[in-house]
Amino acid sequence: MKSKEIGPDLERIVKGHVLWDKHSLDLYSVDSSSYILRPLVITIPKDESDVIRILKYAAKNKIGITPRGAGTGLVGSALGRGIIIDLRNFNKIRIGHNHVEADCGVFKGNLDEALRKKGGFFPPDPSIGPYCTIGGMVATNASGSHTLKYGSTIDNLLSVRMIRSDGKIMHLPSKSQFANRIYDITRSDGKSGFPDITKNSCGYRLDAVTSKLNLQKLIAGSEGTLGIIISTKLKILPIPKKNALMVLAYRSIRKAAIDSPKIVKLKPSALEIVDKNIIKYINVILPKDIECLLFVEFDSRIKSSVKILQNIISDAKIVKILTKKSEIKKWWKYRNSALSYSLRSIASNQTMPTVIEDAVVPVEKLVLLVDLIEEVSEKYGIKFVLYGHAGNGNLHIRPILRQRNKKLIKKIATEFFSKLIQMGGCITAEHGDGLARSEFVKMQYGNRIYSVFDKVKRQFDPKNILNPGKIITHKSSIIKNLKI
Ligand SMILES: Cc1cc2nc3c(=O)[nH]c(=O)nc-3n(C[C@H](O)[C@H](O)[C@H](O)COP(=O)(O)OP(=O)(O)OC[C@H]3O[C@@H](n4cnc5c(N)ncnc54)[C@H](O)[C@@H]3O)c2cc1C
Repeated sequence: MKSKEIGPDLERIVKGHVLWDKHSLDLYSVDSSSYILRPLVITIPKDESDVIRILKYAAKNKIGITPRGAGTGLVGSALGRGIIIDLRNFNKIRIGHNHVEADCGVFKGNLDEALRKKGGFFPPDPSIGPYCTIGGMVATNASGSHTLKYGSTIDNLLSVRMIRSDGKIMHLPSKSQFANRIYDITRSDGKSGFPDITKNSCGYRLDAVTSKLNLQKLIAGSEGTLGIIISTKLKILPIPKKNALMVLAYRSIRKAAIDSPKIVKLKPSALEIVDKNIIKYINVILPKDIECLLFVEFDSRIKSSVKILQNIISDAKIVKILTKKSEIKKWWKYRNSALSYSLRSIASNQTMPTVIEDAVVPVEKLVLLVDLIEEVSEKYGIKFVLYGHAGNGNLHIRPILRQRNKKLIKKIATEFFSKLIQMGGCITAEHGDGLARSEFVKMQYGNRIYSVFDKVKRQFDPKNILNPGKIITHKSSIIKNLKI
């Protein structure tokens, strides 16, 4: 079907907006990834009944439907060829005791502001800051700098209200027959094939579903492939009273990687890394010849931890010990600007595709991941920009490539992922599979677990209309719609 058939059809049945003009289609063809994919129609439903009508229409006409939050995802998971469903109108926040109910379209910044007034916070803190939505965070299982202490979205998700592909509303966890059936599938096979890591946004998180009472965790990281999330119940915590941030300068990334597991043992609230490509934009005089900085934050047992830290680090210079809130905020801004700083590092004929940008290993193996990056760098003569969540063993690795070299990207990714998986790592910690990595989900988990994923998908979405081509796919999409 064409846009000019679907558009008027949907306009007749939907109370919200339906768009299929060139400008809107251009706008929704991109997100914050390296991909471009043109949809047929954009819908902005007014309420739940609109969502149900759109889903029923898509199912009847076998058209793919892709949910969209703020479009800040880095791997093209909010891009689709069919109908885009923009959930901006679902934006209510209801604060309870130790929890908050937030609709899927609530911006993280608005939630933070509402919670701050009550002295609380929702812990996952992606570096994009206020600009992503709760629906997008749940659907990618987003994390952030403080995930080291407070967990990813999956660890802070208490329940989900969603609409399945057949238009039925469901809550998870619940005692419904459907939920029981899903639970039986998730435990029908061993979970031993899941990597032993602290963050994981690859595939469906069967490993996190330990009882019927936490079946909502299956939706975290499901990238809109199992249903449209309408609202969520999230954990909130009191804002820590004090914190201290230490900035350590290293002449070798390898040495910083070796120190990271030792630092993690002190239970910091964050342990982050930025390399020299980012450091050069930090407007502070720093020692010469440094390769990377570690940001180490403590929000409990501060004095004793800072003292021990000074004794356990090897060959690093302590550049800053900050306790003033305004100073700490300033330095976190440097860290959180890593992606935009790194984009400034490349020439106009170069590109930094988001393909292998979210590798994760157990922190004890961080040094092996650094060695693997070095190996690929030498083999292909490529430089990398590197930053990320060192304490979780999660590095954002952006190769600097000459444009139009798509085949090389696929070759590097295939080789890199294979070695990463062999060392006990995972292809994505927090950004998800999307167009970049869905074809590697089977490589990550093997046939046995992948077939359970397939069963889960068929239960929720038997006609494969929900974000088709993401997570469960037999097609290759890693380079097909790359913008370069
Ligand atoms: C500069 C920058 C820094 C970033 N830093 C981090 C970081 O530190 N940590 C991190 O985890 N991520 C980071 N990201 C990635 C991104 O911000 C997160 O993935 C974020 O959670 C995406 O939210 P969104 O609202 O933009 O979702 P979108 O990009 O719109 O969508 C992402 C996925 O969620 C699905 N989705 C959205 N809403 C719903 C819904 N209601 N129901 C079902 N599915 C839905 C979409 O279909 C898609 O699959 C960063 C991105 C940028 C650009």
